Amino acid sequence: MTDTYLDMVNSGLGKQLAGKLGLPRPVTLRRFTADGDFPSGSVLVLGRGAAGDAASSALLGWDLDVRRHAQDVDRVGAVVIDYTEVDSPADLADAALELASAVRKLRPGGRVITLSRPAPGIGTGAASGMLPGARQLTPSQAAARQGVVGMLRSIAQEMRGGVTANGILLADDVAADAPGVTGALRFFLSGRSAYVDGQFLTVGDDRGDADVDWVHPVAGKVAVVTGAARGIGAQVTRTLAASGATVIPVDVPAAGDALSKLANELRVPALQLDVTDPQAGQKILDLAVSRYGRLDLVVHNAGITRDKMLANMDQAKWDSVIAVNIESQLRITETLLASDQLGPAPRIVCLASTSGVAGNRGQTNYAASKAGVIGAVAATAPLIAEKGGTINAVAPGFIESDMTAKIPAARRQISRRLNSLQQGGTPEDVAQAITFLLSDAAGGINGQTLRVCGQSLVGA
Ligand code: NAD
Repeated sequence: MTDTYLDMVNSGLGKQLAGKLGLPRPVTLRRFTADGDFPSGSVLVLGRGAAGDAASSALLGWDLDVRRHAQDVDRVGAVVIDYTEVDSPADLADAALELASAVRKLRPGGRVITLSRPAPGIGTGAASGMLPGARQLTPSQAAARQGVVGMLRSIAQEMRGGVTANGILLADDVAADAPGVTGALRFFLSGRSAYVDGQFLTVGDDRGDADVDWVHPVAGKVAVVTGAARGIGAQVTRTLAASGATVIPVDVPAAGDALSKLANELRVPALQLDVTDPQAGQKILDLAVSRYGRLDLVVHNAGITRDKMLANMDQAKWDSVIAVNIESQLRITETLLASDQLGPAPRIVCLASTSGVAGNRGQTNYAASKAGVIGAVAATAPLIAEKGGTINAVAPGFIESDMTAKIPAARRQISRRLNSLQQGGTPEDVAQAITFLLSDAAGGINGQTLRVCGQSLVGA
């Protein structure tokens, strides 16, 4: 599905007209390409602490032009702010005001990235309040840490030109140069995070691999994607394959033709399977192990909507959504974790939704299932960590797909614009975020829900 309004306001006349009328002017986002995946311009690193120094070394290692003072730079590709050592709200001012002087120099597709520590407050991710090794904070320290969240999310709303702002939260006992911190920094700089805006990723431990090949971050892994015949699942399958994995696509028999086409294209076996089958987990394992000897990565993507206002809801609509969207995930994950045939660093990503974060009119059943995914992921994290792995959720906002094509046209236009990037995301945007979370570069990131929603204004 295409967004004709976006194309129109990026043409000469359309641009002028939208400017004169004060209409939204979404830009074409800077997306991942194998050659050249960094913002163009210098990277300004603000704040003085070990995390800023570690980030500078990583940035220099990627051959970027790193500067430590705003007045030294003309064209800024990204600003990285180290707030890991703030102790009181007053400590936020210096770097914030130095960023202020650099904002107008930010290039289109640029990035603002904060490095800070989690506080047990609102909206920093399900896992951050229960991290192992969390320090007892004074109210002033907690205020400073949580202040970074409010500031970053406001910056994200103020940016234009496809510039995004996201934050990395380092758990108290995580080293400044932990692989997950470097990996999250690389992800937020990359076109792989094009539609991720105003979000935080918490790095909870020092596991992972900082030297992952960024073009092929899942090279050599054996993966399964459910609901792969079309939409987001088909794109996840293709993106994981392009990123080095061998991917088995799974979908219902009714979608068999599209599934076989995709499997033939990628020269892999297809698995026709309803994920609500009580034996689904074992059938997935059996195929992966018989063909490739093990299973490393799973994407629980299969999902359905049966939207009705609660007053019109019936048992069948309620039950089918719960069965496909959450019960199947719980059952399959349980089977996988009980098996000894997973690879050494198993990683799972589950599809949630911003409806599961903020709720959505007419979607009580769907929102219950997707909020359930977020809860299940947080609770499964310590179990999979015992096996050296991770489980995370991705919560897409408005994504251009067959699912959202069903929304009436006028409502669809409005839904597309209600986010900081003023456009819907693409299946590729979701697939790229999933690919990162499945890579060893995301090793220390566990139990989180990452929203891929352009900072949707619906819900916090
Ligand atoms: P889609 O309807 O285009 O594709 C879903 C796929 O899942 C289909 O191929 C379908 O056959 C398959 N499927 C459904 N039930 C299944 C079952 N029981 N067993 C196996 N396969 C089954 O949907 P999409 O837009 O690509 O969404 C993919 C996922 O992303 C879903 O979990 C959805 O809830 C979530 N999501 C989508 C959006 C969006 O804007 N499109 C937003 C938030 C979340």
